[in-house]
Amino acid sequence: DETLSALAQTGERDLETTLRPRKLDEFVGQPRVREQLELVLESARRRGVPPDHVLLSGPPGLGKTSMAMIVAAELGAAIRITSGPALERAGDLAAMLSNLAPGDVLFIDEIHRIARPAEEMLYLAMEDFRVDVVVGKGPGATSIPLEIAPFTLVGATTRSGSLTGPLRDRFGFTGQMEFYSDRELELVARRAATILGIAIDRDGCAEIAGRSRGTPRIVNRLLRRVRDYAEVRADGKVTLEVARAALKVYDVDELGLDRLDRAVLGALTRSFGGGPVGISTLAVAVGEEATTVEEVCEPYLVRAGMLARTPRGRVATAAAWEHLGLVPPPETGR
Ligand code: ADP
Repeated sequence: DETLSALAQTGERDLETTLRPRKLDEFVGQPRVREQLELVLESARRRGVPPDHVLLSGPPGLGKTSMAMIVAAELGAAIRITSGPALERAGDLAAMLSNLAPGDVLFIDEIHRIARPAEEMLYLAMEDFRVDVVVGKGPGATSIPLEIAPFTLVGATTRSGSLTGPLRDRFGFTGQMEFYSDRELELVARRAATILGIAIDRDGCAEIAGRSRGTPRIVNRLLRRVRDYAEVRADGKVTLEVARAALKVYDVDELGLDRLDRAVLGALTRSFGGGPVGISTLAVAVGEEATTVEEVCEPYLVRAGMLARTPRGRVATAAAWEHLGLVPPPETGR
């Protein structure tokens, strides 16, 4: 029933908010980015100025949005949230910028997808805290300079490579978020279980952590699915056996690869003989958008050593063939 599933979705999204770490020292993992940010924030605090603009890059679900909120919290500042795709017209951005109070944090998610006119407006805003608002059309159009409050922009991107040079250059600091270790993911699982009141033992935690593709958002999602299973089919407690049985139902394999990951590897091996094959061809073969395959699936498959990006296209490694229980063709000595 649609209403019910909408309700359930709101519930799950609220949970994501509940599970967000609020302070820098509550944030598990990312020691490098944390230390670097700490310095940026503390130095700005001592000088009494808003910190430099911050760019956070890395695959989805690694904590970029959470980190942006923490930056605002640590500064004692308000945060305004928007995203690249929402800033289609420069006017949308002008409205946001002119509503900022001094010291506010402006968070732009998926900043690589910002439209050109808005991006150009952002240059001046980031550099001089000024926007030029164009009034009217055609020969009668005039541009009115408008002062805006000094603010800190936090941008998040899953592909820093597709940011234009001028935009990238205007960030004073770029934090590269990395996949989490299993140990860190166990801490994330333990913390989320405590907040949600889920009974889970150490092995259950480790099992979920090990199958979460290095990603806290996946830990939280799998934890909830395993909890469902534990409540419906077991005595409510998440143990190793319960976690395994539940993850089987949800099609998450021992490495944490889901249906789409396996479809990508399956197409790459079975249909394209191991590659090399172009990303768009591969995406069509699995019926997904190229950007989803590229930004959601590939980073982890690369890190897991299953897929390689070569100048001629994507290639399945020996580990990929093995994981699918297939024998690579003899000439594929990769
Ligand atoms: P991104 O913006 O990179 O896609 P989010 O900040 O939205 O990622 O994080 C997704 C979810 O994962 C959050 O709701 C939060 O609960 C959890 N999460 C992310 N990073 C951490 C972390 N370091 N510690 C604990 N939970 C985290």
